[in-house]
Amino acid sequence: MFEGERIMTEAPRAVVLLSGGLDSATCLAIARSEGFACYALTIDYGQRHRVELEAAVRVAQHLGVERHITLPLDLRAFGGSALTADIAVPKDRAPDATDIPVTYVPARNTMLLSLALGWAETLAARAIFIGVNAVDYSGYPDCRLEFITAFQNLARLATKAGVADDAHFIIKTPLIDLSKAEIIRTGQALGLDYGLTHSCYDPSAEGLSCGQCESCRLRMAGFAAAGLPDPTRYVQS
Ligand code: ZN
Repeated sequence: MFEGERIMTEAPRAVVLLSGGLDSATCLAIARSEGFACYALTIDYGQRHRVELEAAVRVAQHLGVERHITLPLDLRAFGGSALTADIAVPKDRAPDATDIPVTYVPARNTMLLSLALGWAETLAARAIFIGVNAVDYSGYPDCRLEFITAFQNLARLATKAGVADDAHFIIKTPLIDLSKAEIIRTGQALGLDYGLTHSCYDPSAEGLSCGQCESCRLRMAGFAAAGLPDPTRYVQS
């Protein structure tokens, strides 16, 4: 036990943004498999799918992290998204739709990465993991590689570590080019229990997934394409 702790403290540190969803949980599993000592950061931004915050706690415990912080930052004060305002979550959206859906939260990933960077600099961590994916979420501008690259440059310019110590922060996006099925197979191979994760944007009061929102449909299609059972409990089933 003592030996294990010594090894853990010598491992490079990473801050991992953990929403409690399928992608970020896989991202944490990958960060662990790469030998990072992981510091999981969950932002309670007032999302309507509150059960994902509980999922984040379960996933962090399941995979093992050095520390898990759930940080309140109530974006309902701004609204502007179906996730943070009284706007209906779209159901049965066309899979080939290319417009940016109302579930987009204005500038969310910029805010999440900024908070992760603040903790990373404090911890002397140089890696930040974020589970963005450009395949399924091509409509979201802050899921693109151009955005990630720009933020990485910003991180060096914006921090004492970057200026004084020439530290280079790396924004790690291991899922960016993977299909949902590939993400699920990766997590499965790493021993991740997807029954602990939550994807639905519009769960029932009992926490059951709706099966119709964009996030549910991507998840169901991903498990189907991966040829694996989806452990999620849906309203219809
Ligand atoms: Zn749903």
